[in-house]
Amino acid sequence: MASEIKSVAVIGAGVMGAAIAAHVANAGIKVKLLDIVKPGSADRNAIARGAIERFKKIEPAPLMSPKAARLITPGNTEDDFAGLAECDWIVEAVIERLDIKQALYKRIAEVRKPGSVVSSNTSTIPLSELMSDMPDTLKPDFVITHFFNPPRYMRLLELVTGPDTRGDTIDKITKFCDVTLGKSVISCRDTPGFIANRIGTYWIQSAMVLALDMGLEVEEADAIMGKPMGFPSTGVFGLMDLVGIDLGPHVNASLARLLPKSDPFHAINRDVSMIEKLIAEGYTGKKGKGGFYRSSGRGADKVKETLSLKAAAQGRLEWRATVRPKIDEVKDAKKDLKKLVGAKSKPGQYAWGVLGRVLAYAASLIPEIADDIASVDEAMRLGYTWKYGPFELIDKLGADWVSEKLAALSIPVPPILTRLGKGTFYKTEGSALLQFCSDGTYRPVKRPDGVLLLEDVKRGAKPVLTNKSASVWDIGDGVLCFEFHSIMNSLDGDILALLEKTIALVQKSYKALVIHSEDLRAGPGRENFSVGANLGLAVFAANLRMWGKIEGSVKEGQKAYQALRYAPFPVVGAPAGRALGGGCEILLHCSAVQAYAETYMGLVECGVGLVPGWGGCATMLARWQTAKDAPKGPMPAVAKVFEMVSTAKFSTSAAEAKDLKFLKPEDGITMNRYRVLADAKSRALALVDGYAKPEPAMLQLPGASGRVGLGMAVEEFRKKGVATPHDVTVASHLARVLTGGDVDIVDPVSETDVMALEREAFMALFRTRESQARIKHILDTGRPLRN
Ligand code: NAD
Repeated sequence: MASEIKSVAVIGAGVMGAAIAAHVANAGIKVKLLDIVKPGSADRNAIARGAIERFKKIEPAPLMSPKAARLITPGNTEDDFAGLAECDWIVEAVIERLDIKQALYKRIAEVRKPGSVVSSNTSTIPLSELMSDMPDTLKPDFVITHFFNPPRYMRLLELVTGPDTRGDTIDKITKFCDVTLGKSVISCRDTPGFIANRIGTYWIQSAMVLALDMGLEVEEADAIMGKPMGFPSTGVFGLMDLVGIDLGPHVNASLARLLPKSDPFHAINRDVSMIEKLIAEGYTGKKGKGGFYRSSGRGADKVKETLSLKAAAQGRLEWRATVRPKIDEVKDAKKDLKKLVGAKSKPGQYAWGVLGRVLAYAASLIPEIADDIASVDEAMRLGYTWKYGPFELIDKLGADWVSEKLAALSIPVPPILTRLGKGTFYKTEGSALLQFCSDGTYRPVKRPDGVLLLEDVKRGAKPVLTNKSASVWDIGDGVLCFEFHSIMNSLDGDILALLEKTIALVQKSYKALVIHSEDLRAGPGRENFSVGANLGLAVFAANLRMWGKIEGSVKEGQKAYQALRYAPFPVVGAPAGRALGGGCEILLHCSAVQAYAETYMGLVECGVGLVPGWGGCATMLARWQTAKDAPKGPMPAVAKVFEMVSTAKFSTSAAEAKDLKFLKPEDGITMNRYRVLADAKSRALALVDGYAKPEPAMLQLPGASGRVGLGMAVEEFRKKGVATPHDVTVASHLARVLTGGDVDIVDPVSETDVMALEREAFMALFRTRESQARIKHILDTGRPLRN
């Protein structure tokens, strides 16, 4: 059995190395980060130390909690090389030069401990080249672990092994990258660009070259080659700005060097002088002066500008005001992608010109780059944030339609498509998902051991209970899973009613309940566990002055959440992504939470001019008052919860949710998105034997005297112009709830008392014009209104 990886070293503290080290630390593992000694610097670890310092400034943040930085030890490759002997995994992430990498491997081979794994993060150099003339002792333990940027957020890890790699090494590194680091590990052949960059580079290059050839502008190309196809909404030019325009030429050059002359990549890999000029002038994208898009002017005069492709085609770099193109075919594509890619118009020709080439290219690469189409689709979904992989896109369009249309581009139909004929790449048989293979058979899409997906549970099954906003699924072993499926998983009367029914059903016939929603195609950080109460319905009721109805739904929510909390069986919340407002409150009422590492929790009601009304105030007060590290007396807990709730603070990770006590110290965190449900189910089952519902908490609250202190703090913010007049109103209502209303400081207050205060404050605020304006604004624009 493979021994565990408990300590890691990363060599190279540049963009990738530093961020990989950060992610290893996110997983709670000690990591050494080494770089060269900076010439002339007094601090011999300056490069690595500087990289760790910069984590605070990088957006999105590489660390899940600032505390994780303590697990990273900076060092250099002169003084600290011998220390590599302690490490179970050594990751090389230095510049993309074979000679430099190989010189390092020779040194590593001399110091590393037997059985430790050594890997490269190379994007382009084949393993066969990396290992040529390398010590024989190294080869069995050497692999390529190709992370995508930024490593914390991009879930793909391409794993390349060589003919000499030991099975034990492969198992050990796969398990660590999957379970501990949370990556979806895709096994790739040792071919240039592996899977994602091979297809992704071809896609980007085709989209750019064709836009220039066809005389399209950047905005038009991005409007077509983005959202309508399920590609990142930035489109291709926006994406190049995001990842860095200077990165492309390196990857292109290396693919051009390595790919056989017959590869279609060469036909679209034209030198584009526009790119050279942009890089030379510092227009490397977001990290530089701008790129295809840039901002000019300051403050109110700030305007967004776009590079003119027509001018660029004639050798000039010229930016002009950004326009929003109106392309009818793009609108139609929402209903049917064929309306865009099948259109005879210029947008249609561009859409098919690029997509047709990319789909044919991807299909022609099976089985050269991977055995199975599911791996290719997964690599493109997770490495390039495509909503659908190329084979899923072919299924959407129809394989026979795609084959027929390829003639228009004079592209030969790839053998796998001919073989498939009128069939589909994926089909379901009972509860199994099958994929078409190059030998013409269908085989099951395999999940790694310990992965449980709701989409697999649901395939071919019927829900145990369901209505239009939520469903309940049997996930086996006596556990039910409650799933939201309303708009952004917002909570409404249907969900509360189904929750009540579910509690009764579990009590009668099951052992435990898990609450979990799944949207695996949402893209990094974009999943919603639940965004909270459905405010649209509440505004509708407010417009009709149905105050009784609104108050009724506040009561209903409190009742449902109390029933969950005091259910005689374990309820485990399993969030991924946003868990805000009522979505956070439901988790606060669970017996335990098993959260995906990328979980963003918060009581954000004040942002829309309300206060948490479904027990959020009461539970957070209890948590901050009873925590082991809580200071004495009622006021510190009240002040802390007041600060968090009044500023609508939410956690930027599950680790931070623990710091903020949205999660309890004993709540679990799962690094791999695919393992959240299985971990939550195990957690629930582990709680079943001897489960005792919690005791209601009694709170010590300061009453009116505490309110004075909070009021003074808010007044300071108002004077500084940080708090608006309505912020002050909202804060004063919140302060009344959190200090216990008219209570005397010596009298204990029950959660029920605090919940009555929550209702009172919620209703008073809901009736104000300002809160209603805030709610309407967020519903219309998705952004908060500061009134
Ligand atoms: P980078 O230029 O940002 O960083 C490279 C680092 O390596 C620098 O800090 C440099 O000082 C250090 N270095 C150079 N020689 C060294 C040596 N002999 N010993 C120790 N350190 C040395 O590069 P990067 O973008 O982080 O890329 C690193 C690797 O990751 C490359 O192989 C690249 O192909 C791969 N990669 C990059 C990306 C990306 O998006 N940037 C994505 C995936 C993989």
